[in-house]
Amino acid sequence: MPRKLGQHFLTSEAVLKRIAAAACPEHTERVVEIGPGRGALTRHLLPHTNELHAVELDEVLVTRLRNQFHDNPKLYLHHANVLETDLAQWGPAVITGNLPYYITSPIVERFLSLGPDFKRAVFLMQLEVARRITAKPGSRDYGYLSVFAQLVSEVDTVVTVPPGAFSPPPKVDSAAVLFRRREVVPHLWRSVLKLASHAFAHKRKNLRNNLRPFYGAIIDNLPEVNLRAEQLSVEQFISLHDRLVSYTETA
Ligand code: SAM
Repeated sequence: MPRKLGQHFLTSEAVLKRIAAAACPEHTERVVEIGPGRGALTRHLLPHTNELHAVELDEVLVTRLRNQFHDNPKLYLHHANVLETDLAQWGPAVITGNLPYYITSPIVERFLSLGPDFKRAVFLMQLEVARRITAKPGSRDYGYLSVFAQLVSEVDTVVTVPPGAFSPPPKVDSAAVLFRRREVVPHLWRSVLKLASHAFAHKRKNLRNNLRPFYGAIIDNLPEVNLRAEQLSVEQFISLHDRLVSYTETA
């Protein structure tokens, strides 16, 4: 059984149904599936959409999928590396998949960086990453990935999944996370994120020490400088960012 490429196939019908229902709570014009594997989730998604683009890297699995679904005109199979695929090329879509865990973060970050036409995604991932994505300020798991995800979207855990729901079972627990893109994403979200990346650079240091090298002495005037990044909510990061921008512009 090839474990390279993160190949752990879901066998639990209950979990597959939960993921498909979270991805497509109503009929969905277009869906993009990452890593269809042997088509377990694909089969549950097809009844909910008119057009399903499935991106799979393993040629053997692509051939198998072509045979399995050969008569289904709704399915478009793409033999490609998802990290080299423009996920926006087919137009607005829901994005989903039981992800290859070795590239969970880059896939999630690619979804988050898409435009407002990409309103929804559901990804099955390792529980540890799901916890970081959904973590609240002040908790151990809260960090850059939490701020990135929550700046752009609302995040919820759909279901947690034990290793026994896969064949072969992975070594870790998993969870499916639902991302709903916010109606209003801050205009300068990339710049807020840059601030967050500086703020989290050294987790034990406070904001003054992490941010001073980048923003200079104006940092000393901010009321939150003695806090650490993990204590700041997403709204506080946005507020801090906006004040820094206005100070810099008026300086
Ligand atoms: N969706 C199937 C299921 O739930 O049973 C398979 C999920 S398995 C965890 C991950 C799938 O992603 C595998 O089929 C693997 O071949 C594929 N994969 C791994 N790396 C990939 C990449 N870079 N681009 C596209 N697919 C990839």
